Amino acid sequence: MKIIRTVAEMQAQARQWRREGATLGLVPTMGFLHEGHLSLVDACRREGCSQVVVSIFVNPTQFGPNEDLDRYPRDFARDEALCRGREVAAIFYPEVAEMYAPDASTWVTEETLSRPLCGASRPGHFRGVTTVVAKLFNAVLPDVAVFGQKDAQQSLVIRRMARDLHFPVKIVVAPIVREADGLALSSRNKYLSATERAAAPAIFRALSEARRRHAAGERVADTLVSFVAESIAAAGGRVDYIEVRSQTTLEPCSDIAGPAVMAVAAFFGRTRLIDNVLLD
Ligand code: AMP
Repeated sequence: MKIIRTVAEMQAQARQWRREGATLGLVPTMGFLHEGHLSLVDACRREGCSQVVVSIFVNPTQFGPNEDLDRYPRDFARDEALCRGREVAAIFYPEVAEMYAPDASTWVTEETLSRPLCGASRPGHFRGVTTVVAKLFNAVLPDVAVFGQKDAQQSLVIRRMARDLHFPVKIVVAPIVREADGLALSSRNKYLSATERAAAPAIFRALSEARRRHAAGERVADTLVSFVAESIAAAGGRVDYIEVRSQTTLEPCSDIAGPAVMAVAAFFGRTRLIDNVLLD
């Protein structure tokens, strides 16, 4: 497994693999890897990728000024071992200075899907995400890139960016990997105290019950939202948002007529967790 620290070396390696006839997969991450990330490596293989690159880059431009950039968990040695175990071909592991020139002044912005939900709670977040993913596409030159449904809005925003900017990359979205008690795997789960960790599965329990009620015929979004809000509050969580929106356009839906996504962001202690379920 190669560990590649510069864009030039990454591009040269990608071109060589392509000359050799490889299909290249990319899994962009911020590291502190878990089974959710590794499931994306497996998804690359199912898409026919013969070489899979995992990028590990804690992207400063997607963090707000009062967010957790400085304390974001990092453990490269552990990440490296996990990638070796999954037969990853290379880790692309650039420094911030390699990814951003000190006078960088070019941004990629998506202006519709990135507005609600996390876009409203975290101003500038998606501009950082789309910009860094565009750079990663240009560095790794993948045929396929896999993202997690865990970040449902992010996946839609990136799919839109790739389409609008003609990136020759197939965007694949893989299902959410969860702990046995339903909590979605996340690098940020490490921040949770024992009490918070015990309470946090309330998010998915409530979302699952909302999905069940929807399947049983409930179509009023507010009714489902109120139920989930009360359940999370009862568990000691502080809701940032709970919304039901179209699965494709992220338009709000008050009466749920078509495929929808119910998305939650909630704080347990200082830790902001996100999760979602599809209402089909
Ligand atoms: P992150 O390192 O948190 O930026 O996540 C990198 C990628 O892994 C993103 O595409 C996430 O959506 C995906 N991901 C994170 N957690 C999970 C999970 N529990 N299940 C599936 N994919 C995930």
